[in-house]
Amino acid sequence: MNYFSTVTPRTARSAALFDTAARVIPGGVNSTARAQWAGWTPYPLFVTGGTGAWLQDVDGNRYVDYLLGLGPMILGHRPPAVTDAVVEFIRNRGTVFALPTEEEAVLAEKIIAAVPSVEQVRLCNTGTEAVLYATRLARAFTRRSKIVRFEGMYHGFSDAVYWSKHPRIDEAGPDHRPRPVAQGPGLPKGVEDNLIILPWNDAEALAEVLATRGDEIAAVLMEPVMCNTGCILPQAGYLEAVRDMTGRHGVVLIFDEVITGFRLGLGGAQGRFGILPDLSVFAKGLGGGFPVAALGGRREIMALVADGTVSMAGTYTANGIAVAAANAALDELSGAGVYDRLDEVSDRLRGGLGRIFEQAGLPAFVVGLGPLMQVWFSREPIANYRDAVRNADQALFRVWWENMLARGVLFHPGAYENLFVSTAHGLDEVELTLQAARESAADLA
Ligand code: PLP
Repeated sequence: MNYFSTVTPRTARSAALFDTAARVIPGGVNSTARAQWAGWTPYPLFVTGGTGAWLQDVDGNRYVDYLLGLGPMILGHRPPAVTDAVVEFIRNRGTVFALPTEEEAVLAEKIIAAVPSVEQVRLCNTGTEAVLYATRLARAFTRRSKIVRFEGMYHGFSDAVYWSKHPRIDEAGPDHRPRPVAQGPGLPKGVEDNLIILPWNDAEALAEVLATRGDEIAAVLMEPVMCNTGCILPQAGYLEAVRDMTGRHGVVLIFDEVITGFRLGLGGAQGRFGILPDLSVFAKGLGGGFPVAALGGRREIMALVADGTVSMAGTYTANGIAVAAANAALDELSGAGVYDRLDEVSDRLRGGLGRIFEQAGLPAFVVGLGPLMQVWFSREPIANYRDAVRNADQALFRVWWENMLARGVLFHPGAYENLFVSTAHGLDEVELTLQAARESAADLA
């Protein structure tokens, strides 16, 4: 069974809509992650909408949805509390005022109460923006200019950091000391002089760079769980070592929790691992599906924003829709037992998939934490980007994806993406998914 033989005949309207869209929209889609070259061949599914854990395409097919908008839909599609809060705000209050509302501080209090390292917080619209502000703030605070970032991670598409996300390793220098590789043409030459690229999960590589160039380095920027090269967990002691070393060298530690924030728990990855960064960036899980992001951290650093030394602007920043959505989403996520249940359902899925691969004798394993995971088709463990490039079987992942989609289970076709679970997923959805996985694994074995 494969996508072309079973899914294509069932998705004729998606095919037709894609043809129309491609005439007026470059590539037919409005994000690279939805493009054909990102894996959506022969065309992406066009959707009508979703309810809870389910997504429906324009041909009437329904899927158990682990794509979940690439992360924001942690409460599932159309969570009533968030929808009601937004609709009520728009109807009765408005949208954009260029003046503060009372609800902004209410939201800030909730974020501060939830996330251990955050003493003050500013809102913005997207993860890309929040990272841009975080690095600017770190540079202003330290009066240094270089940022350490890690091969295989993604921190948004701004010129300053869109380097070495998924470089060809034959162009990217030695394993221990990679060199910056632009994501593509159009990034200004010279920007990379302010970047130091390192392999992740390698405390020695970071120690070496800090020892020789620590006084040039403003920040170490990292996803505390690598979520943009599949899912890779920090090795035991790694985050502790990073926290310790950055502290000793006066380097700002920035956790990009755009994916992990409000997903691995109310306190994000930092709450889960007990490691406190100096600055943190949040987006997807924060808004229950609406565009809102946040940059928070130590009061001493955030103070540079307070007095205007560092500018954070934006016409749409903290607009009424974003704040209403985030306030409602955080209230939902703060409910008793919400993350315990998310973890239970996710563990059931992760454990079930693992057992199915084992029983089928497939060279595959599942890596993740709570409602975040990815399947690796690999015989070797994967600790960083180059391990993934060298060991992961992308072709087999593709066959797996096609088989699962054909059986009504949706996730991103890219092996370097993730499966996301929402609070709307229950054991019924997990059982349907595991049944599809059993059949798919039998086809793959
Ligand atoms: N940081 C991480 C870890 C991300 O995964 C993403 C997006 O996927 C971003 C930053 C950029 O966020 P946005 O797409 O909201 O600009």
